[in-house]
Amino acid sequence: MIEIPLVFDEPPQKKKAPKHLADLSPAERKAWAAQLGFQPFRASQVATHYFSHLSNKPEQWSDIPADQRETIAAALTPQLIELVTTRTTDGGMTRKDLWKLHDGVLVESVLMRYTDRVTVCISSQAGCGMNCPFCATGQAGLTRNLTAGEITEQIVAAARACQDGELPGGPTRLSNIVFMGMGEPLANYSAVVRTLHNIVDPNPDGLGISARSVTVSTVGLVNGIEKLMDEGINCTLAVSLHTPDDELRDTLVPINNRFNVREVLAAADAYEKKTGRRYSIEYALIRDINDQSWRSDLLGRLLKSRNAHVNLIPLNPTPGSKWTASRREDEAEFVRILESYGVPVTVRDTRGREIDGACGQLAAAEKGKE
Ligand code: SAH
Repeated sequence: MIEIPLVFDEPPQKKKAPKHLADLSPAERKAWAAQLGFQPFRASQVATHYFSHLSNKPEQWSDIPADQRETIAAALTPQLIELVTTRTTDGGMTRKDLWKLHDGVLVESVLMRYTDRVTVCISSQAGCGMNCPFCATGQAGLTRNLTAGEITEQIVAAARACQDGELPGGPTRLSNIVFMGMGEPLANYSAVVRTLHNIVDPNPDGLGISARSVTVSTVGLVNGIEKLMDEGINCTLAVSLHTPDDELRDTLVPINNRFNVREVLAAADAYEKKTGRRYSIEYALIRDINDQSWRSDLLGRLLKSRNAHVNLIPLNPTPGSKWTASRREDEAEFVRILESYGVPVTVRDTRGREIDGACGQLAAAEKGKE
């Protein structure tokens, strides 16, 4: 068998991001602290402040001698992301943050408060190498992979914003995490898996968030899906299918030329068997491109005996795109046909459209200003 790399053509890096506790496993953290000349148990103390208390105020870390707090905090938890702009909508219930990384690279995350949960949508790469023509991030290509620290920092910042009551409705807890911001998470495999541990590991090693509330969304990198199911993390998998036929999918999701619809669904089925988790099929409805009834019919036939749920996303048109969202009646017909096969389907709400939604648009707008 040919070994297919999990990292796709990442351009060479000028300067690495500073190393962070969140890049490492709990055991490695101790060894690293010792290497830096600190007592190994400082690593778990700092992890407690970082993951359990979400504290970025070392002056309050009273279990560490006052004259060492700043030094230890700066060494083990250097600030990796700096807020550039925040935009809010839905009366503040949706908030999009644009972050600058140590090398000036921009990424974004979106925090959304609902009645029953708070979800953060995070970026796993700066840009993306998958080149899907309807996606704003895809247009710009891949700048670089994020480190586990840089991905985790987006989540910890979101959790802190919830704890500090920055969203209307008062203090709350971050409950859900979706890897649906910029990037293809399975093309940055090891950093994403390290991040998943940081999310699900109980305090103080991680945030202690339930794996069922974590969704990794992928274009369908079969080798990545197969590896992920063996990690024992059991998070939810979402597959960006966007059409049930290879002919169109070869264009909409170009990696389909390497892993086709049949192979992607087989990998998702195997993931579901191994983890017991129903998976999601992501389907952006694009007017007159992938929203015909025959495609809904084909999708229904493909999914009727599978343990999958379809998430229909009205296309969020990217600047300059010739494509737009489906007509209301076509969307309704698409749903009706899928339901006639007994396939569970939801039409995703379009939170955050006014603030350039998800899909790399804020970073694109910011770049345009430079
Ligand atoms: N690379 C991963 C995750 C990133 S995007 C993936 O492809 O799954 C998360 C979801 O948003 C994907 O399903 C993606 O196809 C979808 N998406 C991207 N651009 C979009 C747009 N303009 N309108 C609607 N959905 C879009």
